[in-house]
Amino acid sequence: MKSHVQVAVVGGGVVGCSVLYHLTKAGWRDVVLIERDELTSGSTWHAAVGMHTINLDPNVAKLQQYTITLYKEIEAISGQSCGVHITGGLMLAGTEDRLDWLRQAHARGRYLGIETQFVSIDEAARLFPLMEKKYFVGALYDPIEGHVDPAGVTNAYAKAARIQGAEVYRFTRVTELAQRRDGGWDVVTDKGTIRAEHVVNAGGLWAREVGRMVGLELPVLAMQHQYLITEEIPEVKASAKEMLHVIDFEGEIYMRQEGKGMLLGTYERAGVPWSEHETPWDFTHELLPPDLDRIAPSLEVAFRHYPALERAGIKKVINGPFTFAPDGNPVIGPVRSRPNYWVACGVMAGFSQGGGVGLALSNWMVDGDPGFDIWAMDVARFGDWATPAYTNAKVRENYSRRFQIRFPNEELPAARPLRTSPVYDRLKQRGAVFGASFGLEHALWFAPSAEAASEDITFRRSNAHGPVGEECRAVRNAVGLMEISTYSKYEVTGPGAEAWLSRLLTNRVPATGRIVLAPMLNANGKLIGDFTVAKLADERFYLFGSGIAEDYHMRWFETHLPNSGVTIRSLRSKLTGFSIAGPRSRELLRRLVAADVSNEAFAFLSFRAMDLCMVPAVVGRMTFTGDLGFEIWVTADHQRALYDLLVEAGRDLGLRHFGARALHSLRLEKNFGTWAREFRPIYGPFEAGLSRFVDFRKSDFIGREAALKEKEVGPKRRLVSFVVDAAEADCIGDEPVWYDGKVVGWITSGGFCHHVGRSLALGYIPAELTAAENFELEILGERRRATLTPRPVFDPDGKRMRG
Ligand SMILES: Cc1cc2nc3c(=O)[nH]c(=O)nc-3n(C[C@H](O)[C@H](O)[C@H](O)COP(=O)(O)OP(=O)(O)OC[C@H]3O[C@@H](n4cnc5c(N)ncnc54)[C@H](O)[C@@H]3O)c2cc1C
Repeated sequence: MKSHVQVAVVGGGVVGCSVLYHLTKAGWRDVVLIERDELTSGSTWHAAVGMHTINLDPNVAKLQQYTITLYKEIEAISGQSCGVHITGGLMLAGTEDRLDWLRQAHARGRYLGIETQFVSIDEAARLFPLMEKKYFVGALYDPIEGHVDPAGVTNAYAKAARIQGAEVYRFTRVTELAQRRDGGWDVVTDKGTIRAEHVVNAGGLWAREVGRMVGLELPVLAMQHQYLITEEIPEVKASAKEMLHVIDFEGEIYMRQEGKGMLLGTYERAGVPWSEHETPWDFTHELLPPDLDRIAPSLEVAFRHYPALERAGIKKVINGPFTFAPDGNPVIGPVRSRPNYWVACGVMAGFSQGGGVGLALSNWMVDGDPGFDIWAMDVARFGDWATPAYTNAKVRENYSRRFQIRFPNEELPAARPLRTSPVYDRLKQRGAVFGASFGLEHALWFAPSAEAASEDITFRRSNAHGPVGEECRAVRNAVGLMEISTYSKYEVTGPGAEAWLSRLLTNRVPATGRIVLAPMLNANGKLIGDFTVAKLADERFYLFGSGIAEDYHMRWFETHLPNSGVTIRSLRSKLTGFSIAGPRSRELLRRLVAADVSNEAFAFLSFRAMDLCMVPAVVGRMTFTGDLGFEIWVTADHQRALYDLLVEAGRDLGLRHFGARALHSLRLEKNFGTWAREFRPIYGPFEAGLSRFVDFRKSDFIGREAALKEKEVGPKRRLVSFVVDAAEADCIGDEPVWYDGKVVGWITSGGFCHHVGRSLALGYIPAELTAAENFELEILGERRRATLTPRPVFDPDGKRMRG
């Protein structure tokens, strides 16, 4: 065993071995993998090993596609067969809603180069003769689905890695991890200690335990999962070709051929977690007792939909555990406040996702950037509010809904409400329909009464359409009130604060009492944040950004903090806020403050402390609605008093509450982009239309060189806005953009814009097409005409905002 290494990967399941392989592929040779038993001895060995590309997050789908294509490569290097069977797969829809879902998945695949194909029910039955046609209304065919051999794949990764310089220590258990003063780790094992510059937690079923070794409670939990293998089925035996993989959503089952029978698995509604609190270390190559009663409802459907299965006996039932994160996506990346500690866990589909996870993580370690848009998998998407009990509730929910439709306007109920602001109950009484963002409840829209506060889930316009329209009109014609406590807020103080912010952000730092908008770039010149920066006093700044990215940004801030002179703290629950917006918002504010808030005294992008009656606040002259407006921030203990003041003073001004849905509609009218949609770490500031916030007069900021290059070469693609000829469904994001018979781009957000009475969408297209005409956007399987609108359809000169 080596005594010093660059990387120690803990865990020899399919994920750890993939990470090891990809590190060697990237050129790192001094890397080892430590496995407590044989390779595959966690959840890997008993997987059903199906693989598929479809995932509702297109970025995860892309990595799944990569994984499937990788098997040839590792077979060639290692000489080890992965046992790849590419059979093709069918996804069967039993309802019109499910067909819409498939249309959406099919369309999303297009711009990623994932070619799926709708087939008729007759054709589906020809491809998969076991099915009973009458239960289905549509079928999507994916030519590159299939399955592999779990031990073959895992060993092929490990062998290929060894050939490229890595070492693998089996039957060696990591018992302790201790951070060294030099930032590295002492990896203590039962066979001795290794000093490692980096540690990767690929502990799978034991990822929580390997997290606890460094004081972390990772949001992963194992669920029991059952599949069965039938005896021989005559139709299967007689078939010249291997049976296709099949997902039957209504039956919540997946199937593939195994021997001359079928393998049938199901994600049952009443899923059962395994080892809720601690995973036993002596669990090795073991299975759990089967419980057929639990999966009986799915089996009944399966027997109806595929009668040949009922006639066949059951040869074997497998019940094994594997881990999930609260949203079902992997949990990867560097961990905040744990230098050089990386995670690659919560991978619930290791044979579809393991390759992509290994590639992204190794890119991140070697180049400082995952190289893909992995936001949906980043460990930083969960904050410290994701406790084990939260994870438990959400993982159960996710598991039980694995094959259910997630509608675009659907808010899942488990583990809620968790975080609430002081005005939560007041908003609820007003009819607020809530969503959760980074665990915090926030109003999406307001129903006419508390009793009517629920939304029909649909791919089309819902019962929220009318009320959201009213909210938008109130903002544009009078004044709207919205709680904005979901934004992230940071306070940056100290003698070095100004210089530090200047180096981190692309824009100049504002003068005292002023606000600037400032993107943040990584060294590759890609967007990793967009902030509102306000200077309250010397050495005291506020930053406002996307609430869901708080841990993501704090990880970056803390990594780049100097040893002294700058302090940054998140004001997450301490500072709460409201936005008041619309032509009468100034009048509303004026009624509550002694300060002069006229345009002359408190111009657009001003920021100042002021009292609203008895409530001390800081107020910024800005809103994301694109209208005249103010953001008012107070400590949480003042929020209810402030709320009552605003509601009372706004009564005769036509004040109306508005929520996140209306804000979305209003910002689209202004072509305003937002984090995680238009702004993500795969876009440069010139592509994203943020170049006016990049100040090249500053000689030094992170990403300057790359951004300058983007400017000189010119952006390859551009963020644009479309007016869409939509019917009763609008774009929601990830729809393909068609031009001249080809898919040339994708939509990042869309929706109906009530003030202008049009359906709008934002998205990226190649830079050379920004003057083109005759685009089409594919919404639920139909191509809809779309026209570029280079200037915002509402107030293109920004007179309302500035007025
Ligand atoms: C019944 C069933 C069916 C499945 N079907 C599919 C499927 O069809 N398709 C698909 O893609 N996926 C499927 N899966 C899921 C798949 O198995 C997992 O995604 C995959 O195994 C995750 O791999 P991993 O490497 O993250 O974890 P694991 O396989 O659990 O590996 C973790 C490894 O880390 C080692 N380890 C942990 N702690 C330490 C330590 N302190 N020191 C040393 N070593 C340590 C363990 O011994 C273990 O070998 C299925 C799983 C089950 C149970």
